[in-house]
Amino acid sequence: MLDSALLADLRAARRVVVFTGAGMSAESGIPTFRDRLTGLWARVDPMEIATPRAFRADPQRVWDWHVHLAEAVRAARPNAGHEAIAVLERARLEVTVVTQNIDNLHQRAGSAKVIELHGNLLRLKSFVDEEAAFAAAAPPVICPVCAGYAVWERCDPWAERADLRVIELRAGRVPRCPGCGALLRPDVVWFGEPLAVEMLEAAWNAVEECDALISVGASLEVEPAASLPWRALHRGARVIEVNPAPTALAAHCHASIGAPAAGTLPELFATIWPPL
Ligand SMILES: [Zn+2]
Repeated sequence: MLDSALLADLRAARRVVVFTGAGMSAESGIPTFRDRLTGLWARVDPMEIATPRAFRADPQRVWDWHVHLAEAVRAARPNAGHEAIAVLERARLEVTVVTQNIDNLHQRAGSAKVIELHGNLLRLKSFVDEEAAFAAAAPPVICPVCAGYAVWERCDPWAERADLRVIELRAGRVPRCPGCGALLRPDVVWFGEPLAVEMLEAAWNAVEECDALISVGASLEVEPAASLPWRALHRGARVIEVNPAPTALAAHCHASIGAPAAGTLPELFATIWPPL
């Protein structure tokens, strides 16, 4: 699968970034954020409902749609690919998972360092109504409970929102932050929203320092995340793509494996970086 020179380079690597996209979750049976849901929600376009505008107009409807998605996420299990990535940490490597997925499956599989570029569906944060904030022209007030800016600006993605952790994305009325009264929403990046700058910086820093990057199930169509594997390549890191539908990266990276992650990563990683 890999020639001996590449294998030697990979074995000398100390810092590894595993970059994962929708294909990784699809193998666990989770629809991508762009896919329509089933049943009652089949007619609803995700790009119409997963937006700040839709939440502002009808928070309950948007909440209910995410509840339906969360049911699929909770019912799913990490697959052999997620597990192989988690096991990598036992091979004396510094592993950073950078994911575009919002389903928490890397953490459930046991990965310790996961940068969630698009957030996490099962975590909540307060909804910041930027239109209202700008209209009020009030200075920012940081809510001590949700750690979000109760009046404007974005929530801090690294905040430890401990008091919100007991509130879950479940059927029922949209909950509110007990501190500031803001409506709560899933901590995901909706259509029309920018990625959290802190997450993107953390991902970028991991790529700047890595010796190898494995891109798994990522279509590399959505910027700025799509640039991460290319940046690693230009820096001189070893780059491997694992994707049943190889992208433009395949022709430029050091190895391209046109296969799903669950059937590939366990053997691939055990060959390159056997657990100690
Ligand atoms: Zn609050």
